Amino acid sequence: MGAQIIDGKAFAAKVRGQVADHVARLKSDHGITPGLAVVLVGEDPASQVYVRSKGKMTVEVGMNSYEHKLDPDTSEADLLALIAQLNTDPEVHGILVQLPLPKHLDEDLVINSIDPAKDVDGFHISNVGLLGTGQKSMVPCTPLGCLMMLREYHGSLSGMDAVVIGRSNIVGKPMAQLLLGDSCTVTIAHSRTRDLPDVVRRADIVVAAVGRPEMVPGDWIKPGATVIDVGINRVDAGESKTRLVGDCDYDSCAEVAGAITPVPGGVGPMTIACLLANTVTACCRANGVAEPEGLTA
Ligand code: NDP
Repeated sequence: MGAQIIDGKAFAAKVRGQVADHVARLKSDHGITPGLAVVLVGEDPASQVYVRSKGKMTVEVGMNSYEHKLDPDTSEADLLALIAQLNTDPEVHGILVQLPLPKHLDEDLVINSIDPAKDVDGFHISNVGLLGTGQKSMVPCTPLGCLMMLREYHGSLSGMDAVVIGRSNIVGKPMAQLLLGDSCTVTIAHSRTRDLPDVVRRADIVVAAVGRPEMVPGDWIKPGATVIDVGINRVDAGESKTRLVGDCDYDSCAEVAGAITPVPGGVGPMTIACLLANTVTACCRANGVAEPEGLTA
């Protein structure tokens, strides 16, 4: 196995440490404590786990965590009223509505009702537009985490060929925008892409965000390329056990790649670290205080 392992768990711990340092300075120098409000509608078990761990880590870095757990049959009007209240609350600098929402709620409407300055998920249409035009925005956490790891490993990404597999609004498209912003030559591949193996073989950087277990084999990877595996797929491991795998076949890709993120322990931990980073960034912007360096795009 030749590839260097990009340790997302260790890097995320470092990012959380930087966030904690900045939070401490905000408190001591300005008397401000950043606050993150997380809204969960319903009882989806995976969402409950995510919300719990987000709340725990928010408190660990010294920020205030506000959890709002709403009934599964909460009306759109009630949810919008809560968001309106959080938008005007000066103690709340970041608002995250945990997705997916129950079917009777319009996700786009709900997300676009969040004050863009507090939209720490970076999904508001204004933030999408700002990112697309290269302006200061709130950047979606998962692609931001991928970008941070790539910058840490490579330094400059300028001129590199990058292929992003997947064109979702939460990962693929913003990832491509960020790589373009760092002067990569970017290809976005998807389910209709012709000859995907050939497209991927051209890439110095491969970001796989598909949601298909171990879809990318090592013989699609250019020798020495960097592989960022966003996929989180639970598969059968026999004896009624399951295990998590990525969208890349780790063993065969690691034989060929120059560097690779593992699953678990790669992109996943960086996503929450970037949520905390976005919250501290939002707090600094709201208060006209210098933003932490290296924690935004
Ligand atoms: P979506 O289902 O929204 O998007 C998947 C994308 O993959 C689509 O653009 C789709 O193409 C493309 N695709 C599907 N099949 C193929 C194929 N055979 N060949 C090429 N492209 C294909 O997924 P997400 O972007 O939300 O998530 C992707 C993965 O990342 C999932 O495993 C998810 O669990 C994981 N994830 C991990 C996070 C983390 O923190 N680590 C955070 C968010 C997601 P088309 O548009 O043509 O249908």
